[in-house]
Amino acid sequence: MTQQITHSELDAAVKKSPRKWVYLFSEGNATMRELLGGKGAGVAEMTNAGLPVPPGFTITTEACNAYYDAGKHFPEGMWDQALAALKIVEQQTGKHFGQKDNPLLVSVRSGAKFSMPGMMDTVLNLGINDETVQGLVALTGDERFAYDAYRRFIQMFSKIVLDTDPKDFEHVLDQYKERAGVKSDAEISAADLKKLVVEFKQIAERQSGEPFPTDVYQQLQKAIEAVFSSWNNKRAIDYRNFNKISHSLGTAVNVQSMVFGNMGEDSGTGVAFTRDPGTGEKQLYGEYLLNAQGEDVVAGIRTPSKISRLQDDLPHVYQQFQEIAHRLEQHYRDMQDLEFTVEKGRLYMLQTRSGKRSAQAGIKVLVDMVNEGLISEQEAVKRADTTQVYQLLLPRFDEAKKKQAEKEGRLLAKGLNASPGAATGKAVFDADRAEELGKAGTPVVLIRPETSPDDVHGMLVAKGILTARGGATSHAAVVARGLGLPCVAGCEGIRVNEAEHLFRVVDSDFVLREGDDISIDGATGEVFAGIIETVDPDFEKEVELKQLLNWADQYRRLGVWANADYPRDARRAVTFGAQGIGLCRTEHMFMEQERLPIVQKMILAKTQQERQAALDQLLPFQREDFKGIFVEVTRLETQGGHEQELKEKREMLEAVGSMREMNPMLGLRGCRLGLLFPEINVMQTRAILEAARELAREGKKLQPKIMIPLVGHVNELKEVRRQLEAVAKEITAEGVAVDYKFGTMIELPRAALTAGEISPVADFFSFGTNDLTQTTFGFSRDDAEGKFLLKYVDGLTEPGIEGKVKILPVNPFQTLDRDGVGQLVRMAAENGRKANAHLELGICGEHGGDPDSIEFFHMVGLDYVSCSPFRVPVARLAAAQAALTTSERDK
Ligand code: ADP
Ligand code: MG
Repeated sequence: MTQQITHSELDAAVKKSPRKWVYLFSEGNATMRELLGGKGAGVAEMTNAGLPVPPGFTITTEACNAYYDAGKHFPEGMWDQALAALKIVEQQTGKHFGQKDNPLLVSVRSGAKFSMPGMMDTVLNLGINDETVQGLVALTGDERFAYDAYRRFIQMFSKIVLDTDPKDFEHVLDQYKERAGVKSDAEISAADLKKLVVEFKQIAERQSGEPFPTDVYQQLQKAIEAVFSSWNNKRAIDYRNFNKISHSLGTAVNVQSMVFGNMGEDSGTGVAFTRDPGTGEKQLYGEYLLNAQGEDVVAGIRTPSKISRLQDDLPHVYQQFQEIAHRLEQHYRDMQDLEFTVEKGRLYMLQTRSGKRSAQAGIKVLVDMVNEGLISEQEAVKRADTTQVYQLLLPRFDEAKKKQAEKEGRLLAKGLNASPGAATGKAVFDADRAEELGKAGTPVVLIRPETSPDDVHGMLVAKGILTARGGATSHAAVVARGLGLPCVAGCEGIRVNEAEHLFRVVDSDFVLREGDDISIDGATGEVFAGIIETVDPDFEKEVELKQLLNWADQYRRLGVWANADYPRDARRAVTFGAQGIGLCRTEHMFMEQERLPIVQKMILAKTQQERQAALDQLLPFQREDFKGIFVEVTRLETQGGHEQELKEKREMLEAVGSMREMNPMLGLRGCRLGLLFPEINVMQTRAILEAARELAREGKKLQPKIMIPLVGHVNELKEVRRQLEAVAKEITAEGVAVDYKFGTMIELPRAALTAGEISPVADFFSFGTNDLTQTTFGFSRDDAEGKFLLKYVDGLTEPGIEGKVKILPVNPFQTLDRDGVGQLVRMAAENGRKANAHLELGICGEHGGDPDSIEFFHMVGLDYVSCSPFRVPVARLAAAQAALTTSERDK
């Protein structure tokens, strides 16, 4: 009954306040992430699921925002609500905050809506002072434990709340260990810890210039303020900027009764994923330390044991943990990242969240969960991360080159394979230098003894991360996986010398210095001296990815084609699942070495005869190029196959020739050139149609689509069409008739505005959104990106204005500007179709591979997107996601 009385005290405190700022864990749930932050919502959900969670309460993100709005003062009523909630926690635990007998200690933990690993701050063991520590001793009979908790508290509180330099504490700690001749913190004697506490307090007072707070309520108040403030520390802001997380979300604060992993050999603390976050394999993956507290594992101070060893050390705890892990996965229907502590053989869950994972694991886990019946195909498609799909197709090390490097003695050491991928670059030993070089475009590999949040700005620009200490759940590993960066962690075979900017290989005395080339393989943990060549991954072997994309294909409406200028691009496009070629730039064919002199002759020709002679020479080259591309897209047909394959084959029979040239953006380019020099158009049409005819003779039917670029007035298109039809007639007269389609690119605002006049002359429109963006904005892309565009996106600094003034939300060359360029696309599509019901609509700008733009193209009813071959898998997935999520929204 007392329980109810105090509950009503909290209710009363809430009534007196403008808002409810504080929620007991038992009052929250998983859907309240916005308000309680991810951590608060997670512990609340676990509490209500009946899992063993130390009692506590959450101060909301709204309170954090209100704190800032009020000029860094707690909002009205918040503190009273917190005190009322604390009383309830006292009752739940039977302990008393700030009292000598049976003292309650709490942790004060930050937790925003989106997890920001290691970005904000947590204080443990709060509520300890010279008196309560006596209570802890009396209660546990363990003086060593009590003073260890105390010295940790002073250390953490000083660093996080008093903002003092942690190095001084570590230095003194090291001195004690040295004097006592011990290696780990856990071996320091009680007597020494007592002395350490005194010394730590002196350091804290000296550094902060104020007495160390002995009043536990003052400790709590200051810690809560520090967590609120940590939302706006530099590293948190950097992290949010990089991950595009809004700055206005605020962080929640969790105040939770402490459980102790540092109470002896039947206690410990750890972190674990329910599946391997590197490979996606379904097995517990993680680490723990016996007789340790919280951040000992993550900080990489001691190298922890694998979670599977817990099975030998504390078998019943391991079994219980396994059950809980399974339950949480089923509950959340996702791979979880768990934090736990064991106090004297009793397991407590401290955190659950969806686990960050590598690209490979991301896809595998989804496909496995579908096969396990945990989620549906649609859900897997919707949840798949397009960025991870892209990453999976990035280069890896060439195995043969790796073997060779090993033979040459360049394999220096092997660490943990913490985040897969191949990284090569110049070795750099501090984050600032990495940032400097990285921003200047030099590929760098950042090498650290271990990383901390202070290194993140360097990690963001590095190609890969190598650390000498710390496990697979260390800061370096977690952040790298989140960023999709290759990482080798805990590489104990090297000794990093920060001061001299080098590392020494333990076994061989080899020294690698700043600026030397280095290669790391995050998939195997290998570290090599020098650069190792990379190769493209074998798409055929990506079984799970192919499965996922096959599911995606069932749900998408948009066709996915590829832009390909050479046969090798076309080959890759077909492998990645493109249904056709949506753009083939004939001027790129002109740029191949052996043709360039002929092209120059053509351009410089003074008479029509001279030009014709050059064109006659070019014709066979172009015909062969087109043949090569056609062969690639029809290859499947000749290989034979079953019905599905035949269907794909038919769709594959698409190819496009177009003609553009390299003159300045608004100059004599696109269709204008062929109008002035019709013989160029005639030659190119011949090359395309003859190539198609030759293949037709071999029984390969295909339909080239001839696409005219940079049309602004319908008369331009009419005239080109007349030219082409004349050539087609000639070819038909020569024998086999070739079926082709004729269309135009819509890449000038005038073409979009007059689409209804143009479409009766065209079989199809393909939106050239690169040029359409340039001409709509009046930007010349190269100039704009080099000079001001990125500043527009990043934000301008204006005198007298805090923060940055953003002109554009994103780079419009990467993500289609829906409100401007997009409206031209929408209008042209509608008007074009009104005047020609059979008009086919596609897009072939770079936006064809951008998920956000693809969603827009789906919504305005285009038929297909065409993108670079490497983006084809991304586009297949994004098109399906657009179909699934927009149809949901319509409901
Ligand atoms: P982060 O956001 O960096 O993960 P947490 O708030 O989860 O920070 O705290 C870090 C670690 O501190 C946890 O993994 C856990 O081991 C320890 N910790 C936090 N709260 C408690 C508690 N109430 N009892 C015991 N350990 C705790
Ligand atoms: Mg945590």
